[in-house]
Amino acid sequence: MANSAPRVRIAPSPTGEPHVGTAYIALFNYLFAKKHGGTFVLRIEDTDATRSTAEYEQKVLDALKWCGLEWSEGPDIGGGYGPYRQSERKHIYRPYVDRIVQNGHGFHCFCTPQRLDEMRAEQRAAGKPPKYDGRCLSLTAEEVTSRVEAGEPHVIRLKIPAEGSCKFTDGVYGEVEIPWDAVDMQVLLKADGMPTYHMANVVDDHLMKITHVARGEEWLASVPKHILIYQYLDLEPPVFMHLSLMRNADKSKLSKRKNPTSIPYYASLGYLPEALMNFLGLFFIQIAEGEELLDMDELITQFDPENLSKAGAIFDIQKLDWLNGRWLREKLGEEEFLARVQDWAMQGDRLMSGLKLAQTRVQKFGELPDLTGFLLKSDLGLKAAHFDGLKKLDHAACLEIIREVAPALEALPDWTAEAIESALRELAESSGRKLRIMLPPLFVAMSGSARSLPLFDSMAILGRAMVRQRLKQADIALKAGIDAAQANNG
Ligand code: GLU
Repeated sequence: MANSAPRVRIAPSPTGEPHVGTAYIALFNYLFAKKHGGTFVLRIEDTDATRSTAEYEQKVLDALKWCGLEWSEGPDIGGGYGPYRQSERKHIYRPYVDRIVQNGHGFHCFCTPQRLDEMRAEQRAAGKPPKYDGRCLSLTAEEVTSRVEAGEPHVIRLKIPAEGSCKFTDGVYGEVEIPWDAVDMQVLLKADGMPTYHMANVVDDHLMKITHVARGEEWLASVPKHILIYQYLDLEPPVFMHLSLMRNADKSKLSKRKNPTSIPYYASLGYLPEALMNFLGLFFIQIAEGEELLDMDELITQFDPENLSKAGAIFDIQKLDWLNGRWLREKLGEEEFLARVQDWAMQGDRLMSGLKLAQTRVQKFGELPDLTGFLLKSDLGLKAAHFDGLKKLDHAACLEIIREVAPALEALPDWTAEAIESALRELAESSGRKLRIMLPPLFVAMSGSARSLPLFDSMAILGRAMVRQRLKQADIALKAGIDAAQANNG
């Protein structure tokens, strides 16, 4: 371990809504840096050009700032080791890949995607884990040169020792041993010349002088590949720390299909960033009952990476609610409380946007809370009965529509009223339904009422994560109603 001040990083991939798991790992790194007088770096890992977007990158930055996790170096503020966005570092990686190949530790692979698919299908059929079978390892140097010169598409892969195992010490897991046999000949450079996550990650951690890599346990199995890359490049690996994943109460992996995971979703519900950080920070420290209410400075004081909490990181919403309530009551003065409520209502200008939409629909202001309240509510308390009396649609038909709309909206790259409208129009066309028929159950799912503000605008204001959650709640309510009716009839 380096004796100088540590340098740590959070390295999100901007491929989706900012995830509470990212805040959890970022908080660990932030506390680690603050505790040891080190530096907290933000690096954007956007080597996957098809899934990374500038919009998601901005959202990740905004979400981490909202959490209060300020970085000292990053794509927005620069620093001594930039650029901090991997897509702007493409030219940096190539010489490292070349060095690995020249030293005989990497090889050109010309296998086509089709051949790889067939290989994996055969492995699956034989009950074996999918892994590159090494066909291109045996190509002669002359053959490789002539195929490269002929312009044949290829990738560069990492050679893996034929036997033995990789042993390393993880700061959280302790001694780890993974047989080389279980490690894939990882692609380092893709056919388009972009490095893979593994290659870029190692080179950047080295060049950015990262001393400690703390990240989710899903990366533990990748450490042998990373250690090999460090060895092949004659570089010293950082200290690795793999943190247990956050889980749902049933111990399953936290995923947006089960529970909302997006940071803006929790912000829009009116959780304080301090309470969310307090909640996540408790996963890292051992604390006596009754002493859980901690601000960032207190978290830093209590934080001890040598003595992490042994309890699993369960995303227990009731505990978050409890902590948030305590923060509101015990930590905010009256003025601060009011200021925070105002910030919350105005998030993304949602209250103003909602009021503008309501202008043509009210006779007096007193009707506004009923008409616009759904934009701010945490829970609509939706029941199947809310869907009663929709023209021509029984509960089963409503449920069918909800279940068609949910995945269609998931696939939307842009979240705007126009994009939502055209997605729903397309869906109506392809399903042979009239859009006019599809909309009423969506009004109810979004607002709890069939009389409401314009739907597409409302969905745009509510945001992706809230719309996802409301569709899910509508699904649950309708399903329960249908099941109950069936039980009564049976
Ligand atoms: N880009 C990776 C992620 O988003 C970072 C993993 C790491 O920290 O090495 O999970």
